[in-house]
Amino acid sequence: MHSDPPPLSLWARNISPSPTLAVDAKAKALKAAGEDVCGFAAGEPDFDTPDFIKEACIAALRAGKTKYAPTPGIAELREAVAERYGADYGLKVAPGQVVVSPGGKFSCYLAILATCSPGDEAIIPAPFWVSYPEMVKLAGAVPKQVLAGEATGFKLTPALLEAAITPKTRLLILNSPSNPTGAVYTRPELEAIVAVALRHNLYLLSDEIYEYLVYGDAKHHCPATFSKEAEARILVASGFSKPFAMTGWRLGTLVAPAPIAKACAELQSQISSNATTFAQYGALAALREREKARTAIALMLAAFDRRRRFLHTELNKIPGVSCLLAQGAFYLFPSIAKFGLGSQEFCTRLLEKEKVAAVPGSAFGAEGFLRLSYATSDEVIAKGVARLANFCRTL
Ligand SMILES: *Cc1c(COP(=O)(O)O)cnc(C)c1O
Repeated sequence: MHSDPPPLSLWARNISPSPTLAVDAKAKALKAAGEDVCGFAAGEPDFDTPDFIKEACIAALRAGKTKYAPTPGIAELREAVAERYGADYGLKVAPGQVVVSPGGKFSCYLAILATCSPGDEAIIPAPFWVSYPEMVKLAGAVPKQVLAGEATGFKLTPALLEAAITPKTRLLILNSPSNPTGAVYTRPELEAIVAVALRHNLYLLSDEIYEYLVYGDAKHHCPATFSKEAEARILVASGFSKPFAMTGWRLGTLVAPAPIAKACAELQSQISSNATTFAQYGALAALREREKARTAIALMLAAFDRRRRFLHTELNKIPGVSCLLAQGAFYLFPSIAKFGLGSQEFCTRLLEKEKVAAVPGSAFGAEGFLRLSYATSDEVIAKGVARLANFCRTL
């Protein structure tokens, strides 16, 4: 008899649990215990899914759409996704290039699994979404973080990219609009980066989950539209969670050249099978009823924009804090470096003393910052930022 069971796998031992979900869970636990917590940690819209989407899903459920569907998605939804890339960006997509997955997160994972082998390197600009390095590790590949700091607006530059490329580099991951910084790349910025990636024959995972959440005169650009060469190497991840407040539905999309989409569908067929069948009919309504969808998104966007401006103004009034005015997603990424405290320590004390939940920049590969989500009510934002100001005064 052995006294101890064998160790868990390398994958199980190497995984870091999502720090954003951890902070959110801690804040929710405090709230459940009766504390008045101001939560800036959430990574999801505080709105409910629009009714017309729910109704379509309920109708599908009633109609018995409760069985397995084709792995890459129901035919109508794949068609609708293909069509909307045409309508939104003039990108010609065939339904066979679309994979509907159980979440935008899973779409990213499929893209990484389809392009990275053990030993390959994937370049991840920091600050980054917490899941990218972990997913790259799960593919047996090596995440290479490249810090793109405040000086470049938290955006990767061609020079930074060029310096990080080695013969082993296979994939570049870009996320515009960005979680956690809200940065939005301009078209020339994207074109310059894509040019470097193409010159080195890299694949590019373009995570565009926040594509509809851009403010002011910022505009989202889909780099797959730049050239035939770009289209042949770019895997576009997106989904329904953020634009349609459907985080709990678990529905993502991946658009890629047909052979890559086929490989992703085959991977998905062995890992998860199709995304929930009746949920896909809700997503179909979100894409087919464009007028209703536009109205729902405009309503959310107006609220997010108002909160973004307010929070940005209030943050910059706090002595020692400075914050860029992000143009997309629903996050601000203020610098707290002047306080000389690690961001983890800062967030722990902020939660304990002032009951304000924020995620430390270190979780996103950028020390000296906080991520504040403004996907919460105006009241919570006003109260929370006042408490943050109090806290900063004591440092
Ligand atoms: C939320 C998010 C996703 C996808 O979320 P799902 O809920 O899995 O659809 C993907 N990328 C980023 C950067 C996100 O913030």
